[in-house]
Amino acid sequence: MSEMQYRKLGASGLFVSALSFGSWVTFKNQVDDNLGERLMKQAYDAGINFFDNAEVYAAGDSERIMGRIIKKLGWSRDSYCVSSKVFWGGELPTQRGLSRKHVFDACHAAMQRLQVDYLDLYFCHRPDIHTPMEETVRAMSDLVQQGKVMYWGTSEWRADQIATAHAVARQYNLIPPLVEQPQYNMLERDKVEGDYALLYDQYGLGTTIWSPLASGILTGKYNDGIPAGSRMSLANFQWLADRLETDEGRAKLAKARELTALAEKLGTSLTKLALAWCLKNPNVSTVILGASKESQLSENLAALDTVALLDDGVMAEIETILANKPAAPGDFR
Ligand code: NDP
Repeated sequence: MSEMQYRKLGASGLFVSALSFGSWVTFKNQVDDNLGERLMKQAYDAGINFFDNAEVYAAGDSERIMGRIIKKLGWSRDSYCVSSKVFWGGELPTQRGLSRKHVFDACHAAMQRLQVDYLDLYFCHRPDIHTPMEETVRAMSDLVQQGKVMYWGTSEWRADQIATAHAVARQYNLIPPLVEQPQYNMLERDKVEGDYALLYDQYGLGTTIWSPLASGILTGKYNDGIPAGSRMSLANFQWLADRLETDEGRAKLAKARELTALAEKLGTSLTKLALAWCLKNPNVSTVILGASKESQLSENLAALDTVALLDDGVMAEIETILANKPAAPGDFR
């Protein structure tokens, strides 16, 4: 079995597993309590110590399932980290966004669903342009002060919004965000390699990156159409399948086909190559895996060993196929 690595979450003292496990789409839609229990045990036994959630996933049922499983498996609370994210809690005006009220309500509700008395990571799932930055930073900081949250972060915020949160925290002596949760994979690099380039050194920003396989495109499973039972065949995720039909989608599939051939030449799979490529970036604290089957999780965990294949020559071959390297702003050295 591949040996798990642990990486510091940004400038904090917390070591998270380089691969972690998330529940978006899968829990409730494809994964019930029984399969969820097998997947989480498999992940935990392989050294995964971070499990990702959000209030919006399956309208809270993803957290309920995960909470029941963690309780049943009897894991010691000091042996794993669990997250939630606040933004889309319901239809009412008080149930959405990053107001102090919703940030507090959502935190308490997530702790109840997960059956824990604190969250390790708590993310603002998107920026909220309708709430003053000071209100949100103060609410998150207060939750940390109250011991309900260990570390707080953002998801898909712009670099200047993260910088503003830090400035506000410094001005009022509050606790700043530690971590961002951005999409990052071979086909989506702008934020992690471009926009955020200045934030790693400036603020010690950690990253828990999502959709490392671009929802499955980077497994090669969509190279010849949409297979039955896959994410893009699910009725409520038709919007993802529709994206494959756009010019951008077709260009991504063309790259996936070229990368599949490269992976075969290297004696590995595109899935492992794509995950290893994410792991290779030192600004990635943890790569959040999604899996609807145990066999998928086994393959994805083995990507830890594939990193060794990615020497300069292979990285250059990948770069030629991708042709999407963002310019890092402000680097004159
Ligand atoms: P991926 O891009 O890795 O996609 C995972 C999906 O790809 C699986 O559910 C499965 O779908 C397919 N797959 C995975 N491994 C394999 C394999 N070895 N062979 C074939 N197919 C495979 O990650 P996700 O999009 O699931 O994102 C991971 C996590 O990131 C989420 O669970 C969530 O925690 C977080 N996230 C956060 C977001 C945010 O806004 N902060 C947004 C999205 C995700 P299938 O079998 O159905 O085809």
